[in-house]
Amino acid sequence: MPHDTPLIATVVAGLGLAFVFGTIAQRFRVPPLVGYLLAGVAVGPFTPGFVADQALATELAELGIILLMFGVGLHFSLNDLLSVRKIAVPGAVAQIAVATLMGLGLTLLMGWTVGAGLVFGLALSVASTVVLLRALQERRLMDTERGKIAVGWLIVEDLAMVLALVLFPAVASFQGGGDGAALVSDPLATRFGLGLTGVLVLTLIKIAVFIALMLVVGRRLIPWVLHYIAHTGSRELFRLTVLAIALCIAFGATKLFGVSLALGAFFAGMMLRESPLSQRAAQETLPLRDAFAVLFFVSVGMLFDPLSVVREPWPFAATLFVIVVGKSLAALLIVALFRHPMATALMISASLAQIGEFSFILAELGVALNLLPKAGRDLILAGAIFSIMLNPLVFAVVDWLTSRLDKPQAASPTAATSEPIPVTALQDHTILVGYGRVGSIVGDALHQRNAPFLAVEASDDMVAKLKQRGIEALMGNAARASVLRATNPTGARSLVIAIPEAFEAGQIVEQARAANADIQIIARAHSDAEVDHLKGLGADIVIMGEREIARGMIEELDRRHAAVATQHAPAAREDSAA
Ligand code: AMP
Repeated sequence: MPHDTPLIATVVAGLGLAFVFGTIAQRFRVPPLVGYLLAGVAVGPFTPGFVADQALATELAELGIILLMFGVGLHFSLNDLLSVRKIAVPGAVAQIAVATLMGLGLTLLMGWTVGAGLVFGLALSVASTVVLLRALQERRLMDTERGKIAVGWLIVEDLAMVLALVLFPAVASFQGGGDGAALVSDPLATRFGLGLTGVLVLTLIKIAVFIALMLVVGRRLIPWVLHYIAHTGSRELFRLTVLAIALCIAFGATKLFGVSLALGAFFAGMMLRESPLSQRAAQETLPLRDAFAVLFFVSVGMLFDPLSVVREPWPFAATLFVIVVGKSLAALLIVALFRHPMATALMISASLAQIGEFSFILAELGVALNLLPKAGRDLILAGAIFSIMLNPLVFAVVDWLTSRLDKPQAASPTAATSEPIPVTALQDHTILVGYGRVGSIVGDALHQRNAPFLAVEASDDMVAKLKQRGIEALMGNAARASVLRATNPTGARSLVIAIPEAFEAGQIVEQARAANADIQIIARAHSDAEVDHLKGLGADIVIMGEREIARGMIEELDRRHAAVATQHAPAAREDSAA
């Protein structure tokens, strides 16, 4: 090799193998993330062949977390966050307590110290941001009440972890175990020789100052900067600004205020949300976000030593049980106690039934402080990779359970994943998928004409609005078989797919065509390739947005031309007469 390029090698090996394994996984109808994890195992130090740089992979994964949380912030208002606090705060705290106790019990059985048990238990209690957010996004649950509760819950867990990370070294140093004092990361705390309470109070103050600063200064300054840049008219600069804002605030929050990168990015996004440019900002970061999220899974796979599972099968099984079953049951009980519907409780438990990045950080710190034996870290890593792999399965079980359990619940608008959703009574109707910029115009026209139709929308706010107006609406991702079935495609006359995403639109076309050979399918596309794709799957008519815009423009030109021509027409005739 001409020169050493570990960063390039890690990115290339990570993304390249993730692509190969992800495609194979998809082919076998296994979620691609399983492929990404296996790609990580393949380039990890525990399998033969090429070994990527572990530290670099982890840092790259952190970038993914920043971008993901920034994107979530862009969707979240402060009111959203406050509206779920009543359940998210006690829920997360109680779940952390229960999971920690279970972990502690397990370690005591194995003869470890209480300190080790607490670190181990805490590590099992926090869910991975990336896994949870991806699961929510995939199911289009982010805009639903349950999605909001889950995100709020995650934020509370995140805050708890920030506290745990600063407290561990302090606790270790007071216990006299290890070199805790040297690892107290806070220079202020060491300088003033703060005790346990002091460190805790200092951390809380720093978090509060960060949040206050964001709310008071950030809220005005960040949108202002973005607007200013948008007016320069440079798309490149706009993209750069969005990225710079997300990364700088996340990094600054960590370095200056001891807040986690994820939390910093979340607040940066939330401050931008009020800006009308937030939608565009979200789109600009999407491709990067997805690429780095893949690297997150690769980096998790790299940490995993497959032999560790064989070495200690029983402790491993017990750990996995605590993560997947124990934690879920705790969350389920708590949410149910708050009288939320069973479907909500199940969905939230499923999304939290895994562990990830925070657990690794806690485990590393625990080992460095001599609080946790190395075997504990191995168990945590193995538990993480298997719980992440099992997560899609857990969701499938939840879907199935929801369908068994409370059938009346399924009629509620929030029942996105419940199967079966009651099928509409409409016959010979129109199914309208998406009620955004395009769908709302179509829907309003149908409504005015009193035509029988049913709208399917992923945003529960929109569904609530439609229901208020007396329009039949179904909440959920129309590409999901259970949702589409509830629209009665077999008895419908036409299907209008007014969503911008052609892959999802394709899935809808395919299923509807299979259910009804005669249904008229009109779909929306943005390129010739998409038009071909949708027609190939069975759409009758595909309207390409860009072409219609061009037509509108030509029409305007013609109209104007005609007007000018008639204005000048008499003069022209006179000219020619002369
Ligand atoms: P627009 O691009 O403004 O026409 O908005 C598209 C609308 O479709 C948004 O309101 C989305 O919430 C909605 N939407 C997008 N994908 C789906 C889907 N798979 N199922 C149901 N609604 C969707």
